[in-house]
Amino acid sequence: MKKFVYNFKEGSAEMRNLLGGKGANLAEMMRIGLPVPPGFTVTTEACSRYFKEGEKISQDLLDEIFEHLNELENATGKKLGAKKNPLLVSVRSGAPVSMPGMMDTILNLGLNDESVEGLYEATGDRRFAFDCYRRFIQMFSEVVLGIEHAKFEGIIESIKKKKDVEFDTELDDKDWEEVVKLYKELILKETKEQFPQDPKKQLIMAVEAVFRSWNNQRAIIYRKINKIPDDLGTAVNIQSMVFGNMGNDSGTGVAFTRNPSTGEKQLYGEFLLNAQGEDVVAGIRTPKNIEELKDLMPDVFKQLVDVCNLLEKHYKDMQDIEFTVEKGRLYLLQTRSGKRTAQAAVKIAVDMVKEGLITKEEAIMRVSPEQVASLLHRRIDPEAKAEIIAKGLPASPGAAWGQVVFHPDEAERMGQQGLKVILVRVETTPDDIHGIVAAQGVLTSRGGMTSHAAVVARGMGKPCVCGCDSISVDYSNEEFKAGSIIVKKGDIISIDGSTGNVILGKVKMIDPVLSEEFKELLKWADEKRRLSVRANADTPKDAEIARSFGAEGIGLCRTEHMFMAQERLPYVQEMIMAETGEEREKALSKIQSFQEEDFEGIFKEMEGLPVTIRLLDPPLHEFLPKEEELIVEINELKQKGEKELLKKKQEILKRVKALKEFNPMLGLRGCRLGIIYPEIYEMQVKAIFKAACRLAKKGISVYPEVEIPLVSNVNELKVLGEMIQKTAKEVMDEEGIKVDYKIGTMLELPRACLIADKLAEYAEFFSFGTNDLTQTTYGLSRDDAEAKFLPHYINQKILSEDPFIVLDRVGVGGLMRTAVDLGRRVNKNIVIGICGEHGGEPNSIEFCHEIGLDYVSCSPFRVPVARLAAAQAALKENMKK
Ligand code: ADP
Ligand code: MG
Ligand code: MG
Repeated sequence: MKKFVYNFKEGSAEMRNLLGGKGANLAEMMRIGLPVPPGFTVTTEACSRYFKEGEKISQDLLDEIFEHLNELENATGKKLGAKKNPLLVSVRSGAPVSMPGMMDTILNLGLNDESVEGLYEATGDRRFAFDCYRRFIQMFSEVVLGIEHAKFEGIIESIKKKKDVEFDTELDDKDWEEVVKLYKELILKETKEQFPQDPKKQLIMAVEAVFRSWNNQRAIIYRKINKIPDDLGTAVNIQSMVFGNMGNDSGTGVAFTRNPSTGEKQLYGEFLLNAQGEDVVAGIRTPKNIEELKDLMPDVFKQLVDVCNLLEKHYKDMQDIEFTVEKGRLYLLQTRSGKRTAQAAVKIAVDMVKEGLITKEEAIMRVSPEQVASLLHRRIDPEAKAEIIAKGLPASPGAAWGQVVFHPDEAERMGQQGLKVILVRVETTPDDIHGIVAAQGVLTSRGGMTSHAAVVARGMGKPCVCGCDSISVDYSNEEFKAGSIIVKKGDIISIDGSTGNVILGKVKMIDPVLSEEFKELLKWADEKRRLSVRANADTPKDAEIARSFGAEGIGLCRTEHMFMAQERLPYVQEMIMAETGEEREKALSKIQSFQEEDFEGIFKEMEGLPVTIRLLDPPLHEFLPKEEELIVEINELKQKGEKELLKKKQEILKRVKALKEFNPMLGLRGCRLGIIYPEIYEMQVKAIFKAACRLAKKGISVYPEVEIPLVSNVNELKVLGEMIQKTAKEVMDEEGIKVDYKIGTMLELPRACLIADKLAEYAEFFSFGTNDLTQTTYGLSRDDAEAKFLPHYINQKILSEDPFIVLDRVGVGGLMRTAVDLGRRVNKNIVIGICGEHGGEPNSIEFCHEIGLDYVSCSPFRVPVARLAAAQAALKENMKK
């Protein structure tokens, strides 16, 4: 017959799924000889069965529970509910995954009108006995009978008032007896039944209530948020009571074996004298710092320190424990791996390696890459007081404060004056880039985690809160409303892109610190990983940050932002508008000198490391004003009669109309531009090699990699490749120096992946552009999908994950696998990387490792994340072997 109940002596930490975390660890502590009050665990399977059988507890389970109760009674020499020396138990929930505070626990079960006298007799303390009894009635009634907490508190308050005292501790035995009487009357009134006196009935009612608490509202919501499966069920632990409320040589507390906030190796926690478990969390009295226990109970303190050391040695991790002291004797009631901040996680992992507790590999696996990400941004000081006025999506981590502005031009203007601004928009578009660059952070009322604002902000490592639909933005009055609060242009707000909070005023922030431990952990990670890590960077500043975070090159340097810069846009527009070759040349030569500076700056910053420069990618209309705006302007000019400007604008409008496409994403962009307007790419290539040669002459080693975007046909690569070679040679001959360089292509169209063998004949490197590749593989445009149906797909579990965040291993990944395989067949030394946003996402990085890419490239701020994730991927692979 299947077993549904286990004595603590039969369990162990490995049996977590069956016994729940609490039960498994109580058993484990008992196994290693720690003082744990005896008891037994009803399994999670019994809970599942309870629900399957229509919330009924079967007879065989009842029998099994009572058998174990019997055993417990024999072991303790006490009897549940007995008149003499009664056994009291706690009935405690405990799921396989920790869900703190979500489910219920009942203490002092087994008390009734008779056994309370027995407890008095056994202890000689009448006040204590009735204090336990009233606690039990209250917890039982709240948890099992569903009577409101406030009603019980009200009764205690009324007694205190009558006696004119402030604290529970000032109530005596008579008072508690009175409380018990009033409690019982309340229960009769509320339930029309007497408080159950039969202890076995109490026990079974409590077990069922704990089962049912698995499905209470807050537990369901907690599971949803934390992605915990609904079918695990909770175990129930029945444990003989020990008493922290037996006087001033007793108490109860919680402790961490190390400081969970800083990671420092020191006992950290709180305790209360003469109190029972729930008092510490209930906040009735202010607990004392654990340090004070050293003076109050030196022996207990010493024992506690020893226990903590033993637990850490045993579990090889920081523990969060609950304990009770009964008349000077220490008992352990719970242990689990303690939750900790990112900073503490890193410090503890590294320290534990040095203490010989864990290996470097284990340390690397201990810290989650996402935790690391949070260490690389400014944060709101957790101690700071903050008036939160709205909450949106935590789209790009980090925190910032500044004056509210609504227009990107204004953001730029104020930014140039050295003012700090937060750009607030309904949503952002590529036209707003200069405003985002100038702002400390971005807040939008519309758009998801992958909206333009979010992606751009993440790329720049700037905080962003988006989709904050509880604010309404009013551009014309230059204000936004959050509930009843109106925030005007110039008012100061703070945003926290890690939580989505929008805060009124300026709050205290703390700077990111790359602690010594963090650097050390990353160094170990570097020893283990096979993937190289590069960064996506378009400016020398980004390149510098990337390098300081350990980037081993630049995997994607986009050139369009260089075209977008305010002082260059006129020349770019001139170039697009040019009617004669001569005009175009003139505009291009101006842009070329800008580009040379750009590339020189980046090459210099990345001395000795490869820099992949992507030739111009977006459709040209992105550099021209919007059609609607032009029409408005033209109408105004007509009225004013400004002929010359009018003519110019009309020309632009004509060009805009001519360039208009139904689907620009699939239109004249990428290498197609290079084929149609060869001068543009030629200019860029010249700029690249001029810059490279200039530095080479100064003895700075540069490794340019010229990248052709959006290739789908081998002839595109052939034609443009020849142009690049020819131009490079011309420049190098002219400058009289040679530089090593590579020519390669993006793989961002399914067809490119499928003909990767053909492409490999001309390309020396491939880089997967998985943003476009995901769009084109799914046949969807990201912005439309995000706005219209992707969230529904995820809600309805048609898609388990947003494929723009976590790489789709099967479809998109399948094409990547094919391309890697075909490409290496032709050129086994071809360098292959990824430069989409996925290059900084741990799950996707693991996949890139698996299919044998050479590097991942991600935004500068994610470089340490990728270093760690790449190491974890390598270690996981080793473990599988
Ligand atoms: P939670 O999961 O909410 O922490 P627990 O089951 O751990 O609930 O119980 C809360 C507290 O009740 C414990 O920290 C402990 O102080 C007290 N408690 C539980 N069981 C016992 C027991 N057998 N003897 C004394 N105190 C107990
Ligand atoms: Mg607990
Ligand atoms: Mg692309």
